[in-house]
Amino acid sequence: MKTFLLEVVTPERKVFAEDVDMIVVKGVGGELGILPDHIPFVTPLKIAPVKVKKGNNEQYIAVHGGFMEVRKGKVVILAESAELPGDIDVERAKAAKERAERRLNAANRDEIDFRRAELALQRALNRLEVAGRQ
Ligand code: ATP
Repeated sequence: MKTFLLEVVTPERKVFAEDVDMIVVKGVGGELGILPDHIPFVTPLKIAPVKVKKGNNEQYIAVHGGFMEVRKGKVVILAESAELPGDIDVERAKAAKERAERRLNAANRDEIDFRRAELALQRALNRLEVAGRQ
């Protein structure tokens, strides 16, 4: 079966670089399935798990925003942060979730702090979801 190279890169490191059959990502416009020979395009991504299929194997990567660039034979996801399931510290994500929830529930919230806490909560939930699928 035909494959394509998937690279997931953050400012800190290369998280993933393997040939895969298919990925499913959450773009700003909704869920997108990418197969080999997809037409080139670029889309911003939501904070969500990326599903990666290779043969009978299916795995998830926690991707926290950023962009996906689909090129000929290659897909690059450039994210602010991203982790494989085995790299996720569940206790840290739980603590981040609780911290964000406390901030969201605080009575005196300004809009910037609210948005920041909302994004932190999404990242924590994304990590917990991906770690839980392992
Ligand atoms: P925290 O408040 O726990 O730092 P965060 O969502 O603010 O979480 P990020 O800014 O998204 O963290 O990421 C900073 C760095 O820490 C990145 O390298 C990211 O991969 C890593 N990281 C954050 N949370 C976790 C976690 N629960 N397990 C493993 N790595 C994590």
